[in-house]
Amino acid sequence: MRIPSQIVDQVRDSSDILSVVEDYVRMKKAGNNYVGRCPFHDEKTPSFNVSPSKGFFKCFGCGKGGNVITFVMEIERLEFVDAVRWLAGRAGIEIPEHRVDKEAFQKTEVIYHALRFAAEYFSLQLRETLSGTQARAYLHGRGLTETTIERFQLGYAPDSWDGLLKAAERGQISPEALFRAGLVIKRDNGGYYDRFRGRVIFPVWSHIGKIIGFGGRALQEGPKVPKYLNSPETEVYHKKFVLYGLYQAKRDARQQDRILLVEGYTDVLALYQAGVASVACCGTALTSQQVKLLGRFVKEIQLLYDADTAGATATERAIDCVLQSGLNPSVLRLPEGEDPDSFVREQGADKFKAYLQSETKDWLDALYAAARQKNLLHTPQGRRQEMTRVAKRIMWLLRDQLLFKFYVAKTSELFGILEGDVVQEVAVLVQGQKPSEEAASGQGDEGSVLDTIPEAEKTLLQLMLVEGIPMIKYILDRMSLEEFQEGASRELVEALIDFYFESGDQLSGAINPEQLQLDMLGWQLVAGLMLNRHEISSNWEEKKIDVPRLNQDAERIAKDSMRKIKQKLIKEELKELIFRITNAEAGSEAQMELQEEYRERLQHKRAIERGEIFEERGSEAPKDQEDRKAAPMNIPAGSGSSMNLFE
Ligand SMILES: [Zn+2]
Repeated sequence: MRIPSQIVDQVRDSSDILSVVEDYVRMKKAGNNYVGRCPFHDEKTPSFNVSPSKGFFKCFGCGKGGNVITFVMEIERLEFVDAVRWLAGRAGIEIPEHRVDKEAFQKTEVIYHALRFAAEYFSLQLRETLSGTQARAYLHGRGLTETTIERFQLGYAPDSWDGLLKAAERGQISPEALFRAGLVIKRDNGGYYDRFRGRVIFPVWSHIGKIIGFGGRALQEGPKVPKYLNSPETEVYHKKFVLYGLYQAKRDARQQDRILLVEGYTDVLALYQAGVASVACCGTALTSQQVKLLGRFVKEIQLLYDADTAGATATERAIDCVLQSGLNPSVLRLPEGEDPDSFVREQGADKFKAYLQSETKDWLDALYAAARQKNLLHTPQGRRQEMTRVAKRIMWLLRDQLLFKFYVAKTSELFGILEGDVVQEVAVLVQGQKPSEEAASGQGDEGSVLDTIPEAEKTLLQLMLVEGIPMIKYILDRMSLEEFQEGASRELVEALIDFYFESGDQLSGAINPEQLQLDMLGWQLVAGLMLNRHEISSNWEEKKIDVPRLNQDAERIAKDSMRKIKQKLIKEELKELIFRITNAEAGSEAQMELQEEYRERLQHKRAIERGEIFEERGSEAPKDQEDRKAAPMNIPAGSGSSMNLFE
């Protein structure tokens, strides 16, 4: 369906590109423009620009650019027409709809339509029916104002099996559409019935303001009636990506650069009235996807769970989740028996805000206080165990060296041990050499990446990180990508290659890992390597291997490590050749060819052992990246490829 061009123009002109972009990206003013981290590619330094006056955006990292409509098309993955419609809805511009598009019917729009219809229906039931009176009384009894009820479009589902079904029929919405929207349940003998009956209804909005599901609270509590009932997962409702209240809170949250995470819908509403930005999970534990979503708006997440055992466990998990996503968790605990809703109702908004201000604790302080309260710090063993738990969390901060140091200092102070001991503990954890108590009981570490990588290879990676560009060049002139073990190690090498080609020869000094585009595993590896420098050289000493400390004669160490890797690879290769020769038909051409190859590889092995392959043979920087990845310069063709058979 075409939208008249004057309406498209109108929509574009009345959509402020900055405010649209800010729903997805934290932007900072820079001259006449705004910059932020590009939502279309992964980057550490902001290169995504928006010019509000010109109405354009442009990323100098990945090249994407355009106007406000293009932006919405890209970020919401919409067709042009749908993007215009999306913006029109946001700007309150009406688009004349002629008929129900058949194709749109098949897509999710039919579900959204059913959800919008249901929200209207529930809202009407609350406001204008006799049976809604009780629900209204309930909401008013919880201190909710009409403004809040309207803003969150609260509603009431009457105690009937087909109230919504019948209304939908009149609105020409099929039961099938209601079913796909999670609003009705199929009967065994065919037909449908309403999912929500006799409940106060809380519509769940996506962060861009679409209704995607509902939560319902029972008015009459009974043994067979669950207090809360939520929409199931549907084509448009994926709970682990959704936070209740974010749509309404995001503007304030961005301004304050933090948001409160609470347990219930009514907590969110009470806090909204108190002027505090908050969100709640919709019946799930906090997920990394949700934290990532929050990261678009805030840096700090204040965790406010109930003051019971379940709340304490949830808090600890949430701290991990937030730290892993690179955001900053803090913790607020209310007095025993209180929840945000009751606190605000009894003490008022100002008291709550004051409490929030004075009682929010840094996550480390909060964990320490909780452990002390549980008498876990009375014995050296207990302290040791808690210390390990803290170290595991500090590990996630390694991406920010300065923050890492602060927390090391803080931990050392709290536990009364040396900072070096804290770092050592983190190092041990990164290496995964100690089976941790928690791994057995809970979420389970997948073991350390460091353990899976051969020593010689670790040394090369360390050398490249510590010595920087000249060493990267030196090693990569003599090694092929395939000679590094598949997985984290090879990925790190690739990241280093990318970095090398981006920064060129000028750069000197150690590599700042922030500049490498690493995933979590990559970070773990780099962190382990950086922390573990001395560890590895002392291992050598234990094994009576004569190797000088790193940073002295780095080239010699590099050569030595490369030789070890290549020796191992060629041995595997020769073994494989012998196997193939003995299995080939005696005297056949194939066998002779293999024997020839064997002799050639044997010579190569000797060259490796004598170090001849490291003699200068055009150790210039390769011309372009593809060449480099495909074929290292000094390695004879055929060697190394697909030979990553480390023991
Ligand atoms: Zn980009």
